[in-house]
Amino acid sequence: MDEQTPKLPEHNRIGVDFRRPMPRPKVRGAVIDWHCHLLNASHADPWFAAADHYGIDRFVSMSPLEEALRLQNRWGDRMSFIAIPAWREIGKPGWIDDWLRRIDGFYNVGARVAKFHFAPQSMIRSGMKFDSPDFRRVLSEIIARGMIIMTHVGDPEIWYTSKYADAEKFGTRALHYQQWWETIESVNGHPWVGAHLGGNPEDPALLQKMLDHFPNLWLDCSATKWMQREVSLRRDQMRDFFIHNQDRILFGSDQVSGDDRDFDFYASRWWVHRKLWETAYVGPSPIVDPDVPADQQPVIRGLCLPDEVLQKLYHDNAARLLASVKSPCHSERA
Ligand SMILES: [Zn+2]
Repeated sequence: MDEQTPKLPEHNRIGVDFRRPMPRPKVRGAVIDWHCHLLNASHADPWFAAADHYGIDRFVSMSPLEEALRLQNRWGDRMSFIAIPAWREIGKPGWIDDWLRRIDGFYNVGARVAKFHFAPQSMIRSGMKFDSPDFRRVLSEIIARGMIIMTHVGDPEIWYTSKYADAEKFGTRALHYQQWWETIESVNGHPWVGAHLGGNPEDPALLQKMLDHFPNLWLDCSATKWMQREVSLRRDQMRDFFIHNQDRILFGSDQVSGDDRDFDFYASRWWVHRKLWETAYVGPSPIVDPDVPADQQPVIRGLCLPDEVLQKLYHDNAARLLASVKSPCHSERA
């Protein structure tokens, strides 16, 4: 590449004009992004500008508690929060007590969801697993408060043959799902959301088995690079899966804000999700997938879900789930 040719950014390798108008999703009521990370109030302006452009109205965000308070002041009519521990405290002495205090703080700003990060490398960092007494302590508190449990279990299948290949250290994928299964069994029907299609878009048969066994289990379809790759790879099977489970899947982007992220970056995530769920688009993604070689970048194959399924995915399911725990936000059916 010569110096005159600017390198296209990783969120727009095909030069999409993200400012081109796109009609709102055909949805009655607010479009709810159930899984996102608006990390700092200073990131909100380009975030909401892009969200408005792509018709995304409301957000259930994993924001640090200190920022949640600031965000709620200005954007409280469009946001609620998922209780998370402080990133810098995780695994340090006393972090469980700090997390419990934070759950109290989050609850007081209206959060009715709390999240556990049980990806293989997160369990190493935190020292917490499904069978840890500390986990049961936090879980009991969440259940006692009537909050929804949310977990990140698993990670992309291709990581289990690369960064997680050391099964001694990380455990096996099968073991993590077995432990998750046993833990859902233990909560007596308490609502539980499995992030990123249960962390296993590569195995819809396993997901179906879990959904059939646990009526309290919901899945979100968040993570842009992971979903564009794996959902597209099994497009027809996934379309059937979404239609069959249309009352149990929540729209989420896994959008993450950052100091250096602008309108186009945020736009790229919602652009891909909307193409993937709403349209029959078959073509390249603007977003570089770092997990596959440059000459094997994924082709998006849109599911073109029926209108009534999109209505549930974008609004009804999240509204119903949040109303079931009396979340102060999102529950209207405009
Ligand atoms: Zn996330």
